[in-house]
Amino acid sequence: MIPFIDLKRLHEPIKNELMLAIKRVVDSGNFILGPEVASFEKEIARYLGVKHAIGVASGSDALLLSLMALGIKEGDEVITTPFTFFATAGAIMRLGATPVFVDVDERTFNINPSLIESAITSKTKAILPVHIFGQPSNMSEIMMIAKKHDLFVVEDACQAIGAEWKGRKVGSIGDLGCFSFFPTKNLGGFGDGGLVVTNNDEFADYLRKARVHGAKKKYEHQFIGINSRLDALQAAVLRVKLKYLNYWNAERIKIAQEFNDLLRERFITPFVLKGAKHVYHQYALLVKEGRDEVLVSLRKKGVMAGVYYPKPLHLQESFLSLGYKKGDLPVAEEISKKILSIPLYPEVKKYFLEVNLD
Ligand SMILES: *Cc1c(COP(=O)(O)O)cnc(C)c1O
Repeated sequence: MIPFIDLKRLHEPIKNELMLAIKRVVDSGNFILGPEVASFEKEIARYLGVKHAIGVASGSDALLLSLMALGIKEGDEVITTPFTFFATAGAIMRLGATPVFVDVDERTFNINPSLIESAITSKTKAILPVHIFGQPSNMSEIMMIAKKHDLFVVEDACQAIGAEWKGRKVGSIGDLGCFSFFPTKNLGGFGDGGLVVTNNDEFADYLRKARVHGAKKKYEHQFIGINSRLDALQAAVLRVKLKYLNYWNAERIKIAQEFNDLLRERFITPFVLKGAKHVYHQYALLVKEGRDEVLVSLRKKGVMAGVYYPKPLHLQESFLSLGYKKGDLPVAEEISKKILSIPLYPEVKKYFLEVNLD
């Protein structure tokens, strides 16, 4: 059986190093924020090429806190993609603001920049692109539109740590960048964790307070924040794993290229934009006809493929109040019917060679 993702296998070669890092935290008796988190923030800021990195409790909180830093509130609109994990738009709604979904590019599955301008209104405050599956959105066009209309840009880079747009790490290009350390992400902790990055001193200062209930120092609360901190244990694990991230991402790219060679005749294999470094958080292809049959056939053979995402956000029950209906965002809807993610392991190749998919 080939699981969709096998974390035991990933960690096996570095287990001793991970256990030592955990022991260091246990011995320190310091579990929330503290020096371990501060060191991790420094190291990852350097890796991403940003001035500030602020560790938080999850990728979802990273998004929420970023929008809070921008002062997004009821009545504001934020332009985003319908083809993403729930958290992206959930954060907008949680603040009482309105997500405005713009359809995606059928090749990259990311927000289609040529459709953004017509979605801008006097209420629009920000654009929230997602680098879905590890492929950068077209940040040149998005930043240009944002500049022209005086909008903020928050990057949801939760699936794309290490990915680059024209040589710059994603997350470092917009006003704020959000990352998740959910265990299955390209850089995952041993539990929940997240990060906001920015080059803006004021946003960084706000975020460092916002994650501890708006406190500038203990028991001095300047404003109403939330409780969202990165644990020292997670930071210790992430510091070890960060050293291997480039190697792991390179491995993913190599396997993806092998899959491309094997599968491009039968499927629509991932398209990579010029200027983009795709880190294949997922290897997602489009099955022109009979996606569900291919999924079942692979699973029968023990290849645990999956569908991300079967329902775009504009059709989710929780967003009914926004008034979208089937057919409003045809590209995202079509992709949800045809997309298939396969486990990114070299052994999967042999299954594809064996399986008769016709
Ligand atoms: C994983 C993910 C998130 C949320 O991250 P959590 O750490 O699970 O809260 C947000 N956006 C996208 C695109 C993600 O893939």
